[in-house]
Amino acid sequence: MPDSTLRGGPESADSQQVLRLEGVGKLYNPGTPLQTQVLQDINLRLGRGELTALIGPSGSGKSTLLNLLGLLDTPSAGELYLLGQPTGNLDDRTRTQLRNQALGFVFQFHHLIAAFSVLENVLMPLMIGRGKPTAADLELARSLLADVGLGGFGDHKPTQISGGQQQRVAIARALMLRPALLLADEPTGNLDTRTAEKVFELFRHFNRSFGCAVLVVTHDPRLAAGCDRSIELVDGRIVSDQANKG
Ligand code: ADP
Ligand code: MG
Repeated sequence: MPDSTLRGGPESADSQQVLRLEGVGKLYNPGTPLQTQVLQDINLRLGRGELTALIGPSGSGKSTLLNLLGLLDTPSAGELYLLGQPTGNLDDRTRTQLRNQALGFVFQFHHLIAAFSVLENVLMPLMIGRGKPTAADLELARSLLADVGLGGFGDHKPTQISGGQQQRVAIARALMLRPALLLADEPTGNLDTRTAEKVFELFRHFNRSFGCAVLVVTHDPRLAAGCDRSIELVDGRIVSDQANKG
């Protein structure tokens, strides 16, 4: 598959659209007494450059939805298109390739590797795919660290910096491969209000400077209101989807 297709170049079906879901549902443990319908009839489009908040009560299916969007799990119904490409019938290798090239992830717990330096952690996604980083890779990693305000911390170990700083390293790491879509699942769940605001400012910064779409789960209505759009999930269904006033 040519790289331009994965990145939604001019050849892709709709270069302005990062993601499209049509009638997506998720059933856990199908055919067993534990069967649970967690998502139902999700129809959703995410455009390039959109910063979107996903809100909803605990247990409403937000993480399940993010796992589907991130190609970490597969829908039980419907179809999910990433960069115009249907993903339902991809083999594992192509799926992984598409995930690595098009998507970045930030989780509530940053999952930095304690044995590696901050700079090495940022480089990690690239080293997994390609091995030794080039000079240009190092330059990008350093500039991402500078962007998240940690220019002087590349040689530190994750344990030597604060929780908020660790989450900023995780954001730099998620952007290392220049994803078209950044998915963040309660990335500020553990942070104080001011630090959480800073993390959202970073999402906005990268959304503008890289043009990457961002979908971020948050419980904080104020943070959600600062996004371009808010989608609310209740009991596995989208109950509202609205543009926020700028
Ligand atoms: P949220 O992120 O909004 O809190 P989740 O997507 O984590 O919600 O969970 C939605 C529902 O799906 C919950 O009722 C949860 O118990 C259930 N659930 C999540 N993961 C699984 C799983 N792997 N197997 C069965 N049920 C699950
Ligand atoms: Mg969750």
